[in-house]
Amino acid sequence: MRINKFQLALVRERLRALKNFQTPLYKDKLADIDPDELLTPEQFESLPFTEKAELREVYPLGNQAVPDEQIVRIHSSSGTTGTPIIIPYTRKDVEDWADMFARCYAVAGITAADRIHITPGYGLWTAGIGFQLGCEKLGAMAIPMGPGNTDKQLKMMMDMKSTVLCATSSYALLLAEEIEKRGIGDKICLKKGVIGSERWGDKMRARISRELGVELYDIYGLTEIYGPGIGINCEKDEPMHYWDDYIYLEIIDPKTGKNVPDGEIGEIVITTLRKEGAPLIRYRTHDLSRIVPEPCSCGLSYPRIDRIIGRSDDMIKVKGVNIYPGQVEDVLREVEGVSSEYQVMIDHVNGKDIMTLFFETDAGVVKKEVEKTVQSVFKARVGLMVEPKAVSIGELPRSEKKSTRIFDNRY
Ligand code: ZN
Repeated sequence: MRINKFQLALVRERLRALKNFQTPLYKDKLADIDPDELLTPEQFESLPFTEKAELREVYPLGNQAVPDEQIVRIHSSSGTTGTPIIIPYTRKDVEDWADMFARCYAVAGITAADRIHITPGYGLWTAGIGFQLGCEKLGAMAIPMGPGNTDKQLKMMMDMKSTVLCATSSYALLLAEEIEKRGIGDKICLKKGVIGSERWGDKMRARISRELGVELYDIYGLTEIYGPGIGINCEKDEPMHYWDDYIYLEIIDPKTGKNVPDGEIGEIVITTLRKEGAPLIRYRTHDLSRIVPEPCSCGLSYPRIDRIIGRSDDMIKVKGVNIYPGQVEDVLREVEGVSSEYQVMIDHVNGKDIMTLFFETDAGVVKKEVEKTVQSVFKARVGLMVEPKAVSIGELPRSEKKSTRIFDNRY
């Protein structure tokens, strides 16, 4: 899937705006680029990327592309790793975001008759306020809870007969467990859950869905690109539709920066086609996914990406094959008798890369057989022959972070 002429025309408009306003973020980057000459997909793919670090460098408003009179609001990404990022919005940006978000709800089968229980936080970040905007645009009833205070959440959920829950996966799980513990499941009227897309396991998904009695939807977005609401999966299938009339989405090899063929996993790169306040050209999200080329059975023509499988910073390359922690987890989940704990060692021996995959097995399984299965499933799925090493439950160190399960001893 490559950029089409309508999208290219919108990119040219954005480039002109950035150059005319002398936006500091893009002043040097676009110095040698003539927007009127940007006519082909190849030319587009040669435009420089924009990195999150560059947004930090121009803090607070060096990314702004219109005069102050046109800015109606800012949002900010959390500054857990130093300087936060500020994103200015024009009135039209806010309206566009509301339109996209309302479309997300509609694609998930949510209507004006629904009552939407919003638990993500309100304030500087884009979560709560985005869920609210889309809800009001759709015409549904917003129940603007924000996070925390479980007692109050559950009381309102029962009294107001909330039909849709918007939450992070971990908060949805917490509420699900609390509902089960209190035995109030029959007083809960939820039908659907809209969960901010991050990598979360199928087991957690099944649990939330069962305890709450809801269908779950993954909604995608990031503060730099409006916020949540730029894509969601439909009732028919798991991959997420995204709104290619507002954003152009590419999948690149995070190591080489080149576009990968449709269907292959890589890093999501987004160009905003209509954003006025702070347009972004080829913004590297560091989220990993893939284009799903097959048309969706729901009939919508909006293109699709798979669920987010992880972060490109966690990627490693072994024998020319890109590997992500999420893929290892997917393979192990598929094999009977294997538990979720694993560790990967990559070594360079006699001029060759060797990847050893340690994993824990349930009691009573024949380790040699499970190793053979893991090896063949891994080869089929990922395209790489690994050295499988089954160990007993409890033998591997426990770690919160996925990245610390992979040890690259080659360099
Ligand atoms: Zn669909």
